[in-house]
Amino acid sequence: MLRRGPNNDGRLNHDLLPGEKGPQDACGVFGVWAPGEEVAKLTYFGLYALQHRGQESAGIAVSNGSQILVFKDMGLVSQVFDETSLGSLQGHIAVGHARYSTTGASVWENAQPTFRATAHGSIALGHNGNLVNTAELATLVDKLPSDNGRATKVAATNDTDLVTALLAGQVDEDGKPLTVEEAAPLVLPQVQGAFSLVFMDENTLYAARDPQGIRPLVLGRLERGWVVCSETAALDIVGASFVREVEPGEMVAIDENGLRAQRFTEAKPKGCVFEYVYLARPDSDIAGRNVYLSRVEMGRKLAAEAPAEADLVIPTPESGTPAAVGFAEASGIPYGAGLVKNSYVGRTFIQPSQTIRQLGIRLKLNPLKEVIRGKRLVVVDDSIVRGNTQRALVKMLREAGAAEVHIRISSPPIKWPCFFGIDFATRAELIANGMTVDEIGKSLGADSLAYISTDAMIEATTIPKDDLCRACFDGEYPMDLPDPELLGKHLLETEVAGGRDAADALRRP
Ligand code: 5GP
Ligand code: MG
Repeated sequence: MLRRGPNNDGRLNHDLLPGEKGPQDACGVFGVWAPGEEVAKLTYFGLYALQHRGQESAGIAVSNGSQILVFKDMGLVSQVFDETSLGSLQGHIAVGHARYSTTGASVWENAQPTFRATAHGSIALGHNGNLVNTAELATLVDKLPSDNGRATKVAATNDTDLVTALLAGQVDEDGKPLTVEEAAPLVLPQVQGAFSLVFMDENTLYAARDPQGIRPLVLGRLERGWVVCSETAALDIVGASFVREVEPGEMVAIDENGLRAQRFTEAKPKGCVFEYVYLARPDSDIAGRNVYLSRVEMGRKLAAEAPAEADLVIPTPESGTPAAVGFAEASGIPYGAGLVKNSYVGRTFIQPSQTIRQLGIRLKLNPLKEVIRGKRLVVVDDSIVRGNTQRALVKMLREAGAAEVHIRISSPPIKWPCFFGIDFATRAELIANGMTVDEIGKSLGADSLAYISTDAMIEATTIPKDDLCRACFDGEYPMDLPDPELLGKHLLETEVAGGRDAADALRRP
């Protein structure tokens, strides 16, 4: 039995207060095949570049051609690894993972890469995304032949470990164990939901992406090797050149014979639009479109759709910055920094004292009174989830002397939970549920509030609407979802402490 309590789950987020549960990011994955390179160090710096995608745990697995070693722990990439641990990870293939939990609690057993022995050696696997047929996959794992005793014991409680078990334990009709490369095209079509996977056996690096391509996954080239990772920014940081995306429904295998690509299912692209809005780094490109440019364009379109009479446009740093730049440019209202952000907040395990708690958001953002005093402000942010950030900001900006506060949001109201890798609040916790925009504005204490339209947000990405998942905004999920009962984050745990999860999200008002 695994328990997740409010004080011991080690949860890290970008929220107002350390330890307070807020919306969370997807995970980051990184894999490299590069004989002669320090692959563990490349993976470390790749994960370091992907830290924004998950801050709960980090891990790296390395193969030297005859065995795989895994090192993983709770915490940030820079907290988990040091020279000694990286030095012990010698080899020519590595996969790494920075985790934010969407299925399974935030505990060591659920840190990744997951690892399993197979009849031919072993497998290590990292996953970004979230699966929606976890219950079905658990049944498939139960049905695996257990005679070799290898595949069936599932210690972890996350959806990922089920995939690892299935890849490790496949047999042909005669009961002969399959290799990972033989098993993958049989297993992957049975996996539903979002999965950008990097995995390896002793000799080969693999990467695979779900048929919808919900989460990003790209392929890059080193002088002496290959890289697969969540975002192009991580390619830049390790000096790899971008080759192409791993296509939706595609698996690639890389070893001394080069790169082999195959489709395991037909592609039905539905990339997550929220990657463009918030999740991905601005210096990454997804499906050929730069994220920063998308955000600036969202800001421009927002200014056209929802102008405001004001003296100054300020971003909610960092994530609101590109949209604020676009808003200022299109509106002609000067852009300025009205808030200073402590970039390290949310990365402490220390619970704030009562005095600090009352100061709330100041832990994270402090107003520049000299800039704000007497001004009519446009405050731009990328999204409102529960409304806590903007409510606290409005109060703080007024205390700092703002004459008016007009909130402009560069994504539409979030009304639906995500089952594909973002742990958004339940429907009941989403402020846009059951309130009009005016009512939300009042509840936040703003002089006015406006959101960008769904169409304008989509146009700003330049990606065709049909190729994007917009479910958190419009409730149109890109695939059939099983019974809500079967979708809970803690599905594979027998008891959940204080758990209100997405499981009942669709049934809530
Ligand atoms: P709220 O305070 O309304 O609950 O959350 C909105 C704030 O959280 C915004 O400033 C936005 O940048 C940030 N945000 C939106 N989505 C996510 C997410 O998935 N993970 C994290 N950590 N922050 C998010
Ligand atoms: Mg933000």
